[in-house]
Amino acid sequence: MRTFPEHDNDEQQAGPPAGADDALRISEARYRTLVEHIQDGVFLMSGGAYEYVNDAFAAMLGYRRDEMLGMDYMRIVAPEDVAAQEERRRRRQAGFRDTHDFEINLLHKDGRTRVHAAVRVGVIDTGAGTATIGTVRNITAEQETERRYRTLVEHSQVGVFMSRRGSYVYVNHAMAAMLGYDESELIGASYRQLYAPEDLADADERFERRQRGEDVPQTYEARLLHRDGTRVIATVSAGRVEQDGEVITMGTVRDITEQKRIERQLRHNATHDPLTGMPNRTLFVERLRKAMTYAASAGTPSYAVLFLDLDGFKIVNDSLGHAAGDQLLMEIAQRLRTCLRPWDTVARHGGDEFTVLVEQINGLEDAEDVARRIQRELSLPIRLGDHEVFSNVSIGIAPASPDYRGTEEILRDADTAMYRAKARGKAGHVVFDSSMHDIARARLQLETELRQALERNEFLAHFQPLVDLRRGTLTGFEALLRWRHPVRGLLPPAEFMPLAEETGLIIPLGWWMMETACLALARWQETRPLARHLGMSVNIADGQFAHPELLAHVARVLRNSGLDASCLHLEITETVFMENPGAAGQRLEELRAFGVGLHMDDFGTGYSSLSHLSRYPLDTLKIDRAFVHDMLQNPAHLAIVKTIVQLCRDLGLKTVAEGIENGEQLRALRKLKCDGGQGLYFSGPLAEADVEELLQNPRRWK
Ligand code: C2E
Ligand code: MG
Ligand code: MG
Repeated sequence: MRTFPEHDNDEQQAGPPAGADDALRISEARYRTLVEHIQDGVFLMSGGAYEYVNDAFAAMLGYRRDEMLGMDYMRIVAPEDVAAQEERRRRRQAGFRDTHDFEINLLHKDGRTRVHAAVRVGVIDTGAGTATIGTVRNITAEQETERRYRTLVEHSQVGVFMSRRGSYVYVNHAMAAMLGYDESELIGASYRQLYAPEDLADADERFERRQRGEDVPQTYEARLLHRDGTRVIATVSAGRVEQDGEVITMGTVRDITEQKRIERQLRHNATHDPLTGMPNRTLFVERLRKAMTYAASAGTPSYAVLFLDLDGFKIVNDSLGHAAGDQLLMEIAQRLRTCLRPWDTVARHGGDEFTVLVEQINGLEDAEDVARRIQRELSLPIRLGDHEVFSNVSIGIAPASPDYRGTEEILRDADTAMYRAKARGKAGHVVFDSSMHDIARARLQLETELRQALERNEFLAHFQPLVDLRRGTLTGFEALLRWRHPVRGLLPPAEFMPLAEETGLIIPLGWWMMETACLALARWQETRPLARHLGMSVNIADGQFAHPELLAHVARVLRNSGLDASCLHLEITETVFMENPGAAGQRLEELRAFGVGLHMDDFGTGYSSLSHLSRYPLDTLKIDRAFVHDMLQNPAHLAIVKTIVQLCRDLGLKTVAEGIENGEQLRALRKLKCDGGQGLYFSGPLAEADVEELLQNPRRWK
């Protein structure tokens, strides 16, 4: 056996003085002890066979020491590493003498188990030639740990990369798949190939700074390019480590594209109307606030708010159903968009109300132009299934003003102006001016007064005669509501009826009216024989008609007044059929069972469905005065009146013409064989005293 090569070292210098041989022996013994007790394997070999191995090395591979001595070292190299080992041997034989490190799989004595080893070898001169000495460390456990980490990284859902000098040296599967590549395709690729152009400048800057050794933001959002050209939004967390004087960037990449999409979706939902897809009130107010802030800083208010309310939307919704209503709203939304410039905002404010923010305008005229454009566009007929409907819109415009302190103020004024437009007749636009505040205030005041008027007994009934056209005799009256306002005098229904309907006051008011009218007729019948054959027509608001207590009220009124049921005629309008035709039909049957008369009022102005006439138990149809008024000048209207009268006769319904104002109209209607009439030509609505007078001196109209 060879001795260990000798080195200068402390042991030797520290050793006791001795003869050269002794000293050498002692030194060798010490080394041997040292070598035999260290945990790493140590070997010495020459000519390809082990000459010395320590216990640790032998044990590492499951051998006894003596079994390994003389063994060809290639026997313990695992087959997969044989080639590499041969190469190393050739190098050594070619004279390379450098100490070097490598990792290798060695075979355990059992011939299967692998020992992964880190080996360091060097070549020494023995005088008689060269020998190889080496140390062997079993790093199987470390390798296992590393393998686990690698598996973890490789199977991670999160992208992991490592790059050097801007090129990827490692990417895991998740990272490659996220961008539509195979891992191998990305190795060597530059990060510049993967960043979307809009984020490239940032990426370059981070790269430069990292190379200079600066700290850069560790986590950032970036848009990367998928192989198919789409954007992948990602959160990147990266850090730098230095290895052999070079900067290595390592990081993780998480795909948040879907998360972003959902965020966008949520934001969209929160700011848009689900039906029409247009901005909702929230987004509108946000944009309006921006416009106001901008105007304040620029010093030139250059925007306006338009408030739109569809005229007659309720009728479509009620008569054709909600699906048709929805379709109408969608179509209108579509048209509204075409009326605006790209930077304007149109939003659904709710129900059938829309708001428009027009910006960058030079003056009010521009806002009015937009309003006119909208009105023109919306006035074109809209097809809904088999129906063609017309939808007009009332528009209120509030121009910008530095006085506005908040969005709600300008919106309120646009809304007030819109009400004004509606009151003026539909399908128009009105620009807000401050006098309208007074109108809004007045409206509020009217509401308060209206609530008190019933208790204060300020309402009264007037009665308008109804006439048999053929004979010219009185057949009854229509009870018409009046309000004796303490300040404004006698008010017709037009002044307060819309408000009464809106506030629900119409219900108690309607019951009061029915009772008052019936009691009046009952009184007249007691004193005037003529009145026994007369009828009393009472207008029934839609809310009353649908009211659960309608029948109870009718019953009570008939009982209290003692009036014969056939004397009470309820005037209803077609809109009662809109909401729920089935329920309305049933209601009519129930009323019919009481024996009261059922009259259709204002026929021709609403939906004018002729099918209603045959389907429901009605007695009389009142032709709206809009047709009677100009039937002699307007052949179309004359034709309508003629058709209605004819049809009603076929169906067994009586007809009454409203608004007869002159003898020619009367004669024409007589010729058409219209049964009854009402109008200023005979008499306007009369106070009770005038009715008494009329009953005392009955008239015959020619
Ligand atoms: P209506 O039921 O169609 O009543 C007829 C309206 O036409 C009355 O208006 C009457 O004064 C008016 N009129 C009658 N003859 C002529 C004429 O020759 N020329 C013109 N230009 N007008 C004529 P008034 O009293 O202002 O009532 C308006 C509407 O208010 C009524 O229309 C009715 O819908 C409603 N109304 C009136 N009283 C009541 C009520 O007690 N309850 C309900 N729910 N509605 C009522
Ligand atoms: Mg009426
Ligand atoms: Mg009428």
